[in-house]
Amino acid sequence: MSVKEGFVGSIGNTPLIRLRKLSEETGCEILGKAEFMNPGGSVKDRAALAIITDAEDAGRLKPGGTVVEGTAGNTGIGLVHICNARGYKCVIVIPETQSIEKMDVLRTLGADVRPVPAVPYKNPENYVKVAGRLADEMENAIWANQFDNVANRLGHYRTTAPEIWEQTSGKVDAWVTSMGTGGTFTGVAMYLKEKNPDVKCVIADPYGSAYYHYLKSGELKTEGSSITEGIGNARITKNMEDMPADDCIRIDDREAVRIIDHLLFEEGLFMGGSTGINVGAARELALRMGPGHTIVTVLCDSGARYQSKLFNNDFRKEKGLV
Ligand code: PMP
Repeated sequence: MSVKEGFVGSIGNTPLIRLRKLSEETGCEILGKAEFMNPGGSVKDRAALAIITDAEDAGRLKPGGTVVEGTAGNTGIGLVHICNARGYKCVIVIPETQSIEKMDVLRTLGADVRPVPAVPYKNPENYVKVAGRLADEMENAIWANQFDNVANRLGHYRTTAPEIWEQTSGKVDAWVTSMGTGGTFTGVAMYLKEKNPDVKCVIADPYGSAYYHYLKSGELKTEGSSITEGIGNARITKNMEDMPADDCIRIDDREAVRIIDHLLFEEGLFMGGSTGINVGAARELALRMGPGHTIVTVLCDSGARYQSKLFNNDFRKEKGLV
């Protein structure tokens, strides 16, 4: 029998999908880790599980407790599923600029959702800081703190990375993905570099994020903006500390949208915006490295989460993306 134990037992062991047309176009094997196939629908199920398990193991989260988090959405979805499965309550603080679909699903799943104005990280009313304060004020509550809790990247180091290594039989030449917390990029990059220091680890960055300039000049400088959600940041989180990043490729929203439409209409894969940045960067990296290389990236979440924005023609027109 091949049976998985509930929601938690179904997280991970996702397929590695060959993107046929982009592989043919570039002469490389472009492979997408299908994280949208996690039971909560995104790569963040892994971080949520790693964070909750770590808090339980350390005795910080006790039966009947509450998990509080500031999240753009996907981490919240993963957390609330796991909270339901394990008997915890879940409070989610979310910037009110995030998609309606994400907020609705969190409420439906049973989270106590608290939208707050979208203000920069240095402002004490930033959603991440509000979440931290809330957890402090509550009894038997933890702040998941996905940005600076390194249980996040450790989860990827222990699960996502060895899966990629095994699925490619160790024949991976490059790893490229965007960063929100940096847990996925750094956890996987650290493992792959240990296995083979020649694996090229490249950050995919949208406009409005600081990592492109950080990799090029050491300066955390941003320019422009992006409609993508869940990725891009202007600081080095604890999950990014000592990241073995070799390079950074910046992808604009026009290219991300072109890739998203390509994935949908030519590969049959309905993906969200961050996947457009990731796959766009994987394609660009393939062109730079030349034929014959195996490049792994992440298919983060489904396009169904972005119907009202990314897949809405009026929204695309307004943003100059048609
Ligand atoms: N894509 C999406 C859609 C996300 O929600 C996130 C996480 N916020 C990421 C990519 C980036 O993952 P990480 O936090 O591990 O850097």
